Amino acid sequence: MTIWFLTGSQGLYGEDTLRQVAEQSRRIAEALPVPVEWKPVLTDAASIRRVMLEASADDTCAGVIAWMHTFSPAKMWIAGLDALRKPLLHLHTQANVELPWSSIDMDFMNLNQAAHGDREFGHIQTRLGVPRKTVAGHVSDPRVAERVTAWARAATGLAELRTLKLARFGDNMRDVAVTEGDKVEAQLRFGVSVNTYGVNELVEAVDAASDADVNALVKEYEELYRVAPALLGERRESLRYAARIELGLRQFLEGGGFKAFTTNFEDLGGLRQLPGLAVQRLMADGYGFGGEGDWKTSVLLRTLKAMAPEGGTSFMEDYTYDLTPGQEVILGAHMLEVCPSIAAGTPSCEIHPLGIGGREDPVRLVFDAAPGPGVVVGLADMGDRFRLVANEIDIVPSAEPLPALPVARAVWKPRPDFRTSTESWLTAGAPHHTVLSTAVGAEELTDLADMLGVELLVIDAGTTSRQFAKELRWNQAYYRLAQGF
Ligand code: MN
Repeated sequence: MTIWFLTGSQGLYGEDTLRQVAEQSRRIAEALPVPVEWKPVLTDAASIRRVMLEASADDTCAGVIAWMHTFSPAKMWIAGLDALRKPLLHLHTQANVELPWSSIDMDFMNLNQAAHGDREFGHIQTRLGVPRKTVAGHVSDPRVAERVTAWARAATGLAELRTLKLARFGDNMRDVAVTEGDKVEAQLRFGVSVNTYGVNELVEAVDAASDADVNALVKEYEELYRVAPALLGERRESLRYAARIELGLRQFLEGGGFKAFTTNFEDLGGLRQLPGLAVQRLMADGYGFGGEGDWKTSVLLRTLKAMAPEGGTSFMEDYTYDLTPGQEVILGAHMLEVCPSIAAGTPSCEIHPLGIGGREDPVRLVFDAAPGPGVVVGLADMGDRFRLVANEIDIVPSAEPLPALPVARAVWKPRPDFRTSTESWLTAGAPHHTVLSTAVGAEELTDLADMLGVELLVIDAGTTSRQFAKELRWNQAYYRLAQGF
């Protein structure tokens, strides 16, 4: 994906000045923290409309950055902005950092007038109701770089969502409310196509995996993980079957062009194990996943994986608490399916009984999540709209080792504190399944939510229960109004 860089000006300045504008604009484009495709300086309405239509039609264009280097009368931008169907970032910057106080003359003033050129552009964007992110400051400022990078990541996530295909093996877990949702609305709002497949279609792919491929994959497990001795000895067949599930799942997903999927332990068909190791490894390769048929969390996970392909993002579930006063922590995990891209060290590959699902003991990777700042984010369907809720967290080492816990886990302190975080989360009606990420933060999520026109509530160090309750109330009114009649 690429980002296009547009520069606004007008013909009035003459060719010499416009040459300088183009040269300075190229320098700014090159100094940006993300690679951009520089476009020639725009000086009239027809070329502005043309470039916006091209950006909207180009599948490789994730978004557009616009900067009014000089004064670009904004009525020229109306048709173009109206035609734009890609995320927009308004970069409010200037070629130079310091003013040349002793030599500044009217030529310099006329060349460097983003101060009012961008105000004209801001006016027309607001007048037209154009959603965008506005970033002010010189491109050499690290905060500007961070904010532009966050927006570019969100634009990449949006582009992924627009063409995403998700395969569900079985339906939702029976009677569960929060994992349900409107799949038609999801396709309209996000772009993702969510469809269900009989789990025995997957079983066919699993059974069809060749012994040679199974052997090679088991060898890979032995190289990558600390494989429990039992799995290399008397329980080797269980490990081989886990490898078979991975091969079948990959074959099914690659064959259908799916980048996200769900499973449900209530509907395993002819599968002999609940998929654990296979799901974990597919998540590590960037696939979205949700347990118990939770396609919304799977969609969210794939989106964040696309935004931050370097890893550090996993399916997660708030599981249990340590409520020691003043030191409260949340222990997050799942039955099996936590992504090893958040692991602190080399995962160990183990086999343990699982009461749920009624199948053979499943193979899984066990590890602790690496400590550090992160975020958990959940997606709920409120009936009339989708709602994202994010909580900034700090992943911490567990107070003591967890030798009896046979699943991967993360321990974290929610910001601002346990009480405010959980009370806010519950008041928002946010889910128990989340995506945990140390790679994507609140800024990227905010940009993504704005691009989608979806509500996002952020619980962070500055949150108070009273203010949060008011925000919920205001949002309720705003999103009802924003939907129109
Ligand atoms: Mn669950």
